[in-house]
Amino acid sequence: MVMAASCTASAAPGHKGATASAGSLPVNVTVLGATGSIGTSTLDVIDRHPGRYRVYALSAHRSRQALLDQCRRHQPRVAVLECERDAAWLREKLLEAGLDTEVRSGREALTEVARAAEVDVVMAAIVGAAGLLPTLAAVEAGKRVLLANKEALVMSGGLFMEAVARSGATLLPIDSEHNAIFQCLPSEHRGGLARHGVTQLLLTASGGPFRDWTADQLATVTPDQACAHPNWSMGRKISVDSATLMNKGLELIEACWLFDARPEQIQVVVHPQSVIHSMAAYADGSVIAQLGNPDMRTPIAHGLAWPERIASGVEALDLFAVARLDFQRPDDTAFPCLRLARQAIASGGTAPAVLNAANEVAVEAFLDGRLSFNGIGELVERVLADRPLESASELEVILAADERARHDARQWLGDS
Ligand code: NAD
Ligand code: MG
Repeated sequence: MVMAASCTASAAPGHKGATASAGSLPVNVTVLGATGSIGTSTLDVIDRHPGRYRVYALSAHRSRQALLDQCRRHQPRVAVLECERDAAWLREKLLEAGLDTEVRSGREALTEVARAAEVDVVMAAIVGAAGLLPTLAAVEAGKRVLLANKEALVMSGGLFMEAVARSGATLLPIDSEHNAIFQCLPSEHRGGLARHGVTQLLLTASGGPFRDWTADQLATVTPDQACAHPNWSMGRKISVDSATLMNKGLELIEACWLFDARPEQIQVVVHPQSVIHSMAAYADGSVIAQLGNPDMRTPIAHGLAWPERIASGVEALDLFAVARLDFQRPDDTAFPCLRLARQAIASGGTAPAVLNAANEVAVEAFLDGRLSFNGIGELVERVLADRPLESASELEVILAADERARHDARQWLGDS
């Protein structure tokens, strides 16, 4: 497997995109995927620090009413929607409200607000492969990139981390587990974990809503059941991924790239309370954990202000209320997606992009009632087995592999 030689999620303070401290200009933030779960939590944190952050651009796919409400509150310079018809609607509404936000549409506009010269920080919170190009544009422009969109890194890990190293971008993980690991590692951890005495990363998983279910019980799971996560409130795609454990598989791949780790250095630990967000184990027997209430505003505030700390709106953890912390091994038989993700990162090349694309098609089909819950893993396994492995050294090859995997998955579903 190809590993980025010297890339980690760390960057020295003072890198481009550093945050403003009291008295300096406000930090300009673009929020890609502003109307989603991570996007709205980001705006909630920003709202708590008037004068420190300024919203430069907000984007949404189709939720124009939600974007209008956000534009009224945050008055960004630019707002982006997918299609021109929605953009025209928003333009008219903003004009009526006397606001001069420029409204744009299309994918190129997303890339432009990610790399605009005025922007310091980009929150990458689009869901799925659609986030890859704008997130990569922010990295290439050397921004501080707050990475929630794990699919972008899963698809293009090697290229992505090379671009971080080349541009001097500051990449900060927002996924709660990776943000926790980042906080548990030494501030400078380039050159592989072993060099810094780290023996293992312990990636915690809630186990989702069906933690102790058997494959037979899982066969009848409905989309609403799968989206009712016990501890976290999230978008529908990641909620399904959490229920199948594909989310943990994607996170395992994400951790390999962010922390220059080999897959066997990462142990997934099911921890139903979701209070420990992940851990790093050291050669001397120490295990350092990051704890907190399960609320994404903590990692978001951490990424926005790092290396400083700011209020996020999250309550302090009440250990007496938590009372106990449980741990168990993941069940690879009932939840094959974690095993498939391990297989994909071990194969390397375009395999993680194929895994991700097949999973996106499968989850959409499951949410539409066209595929069973257990069918998600079956479909991903089939597409992974059939697609030839290619080197992922060029973006075009990765995007083509993504496209072909989607085509194969749709054909398997009988869609085309
Ligand atoms: P969500 O579905 O709630 O929101 C997604 C956002 O992206 C919305 O603003 C939507 O309009 C936009 N979007 C959707 N499809 C798009 C497209 N094709 N083009 C442009 N924009 C599009 O998702 P979420 O739960 O906020 O998750 C966002 C990302 O963050 C995902 O990659 C997810 O894995 C990651 N993440 C989320 C959480 C969480 O707690 N929600 C935690 C960790 C990581
Ligand atoms: Mg996570």
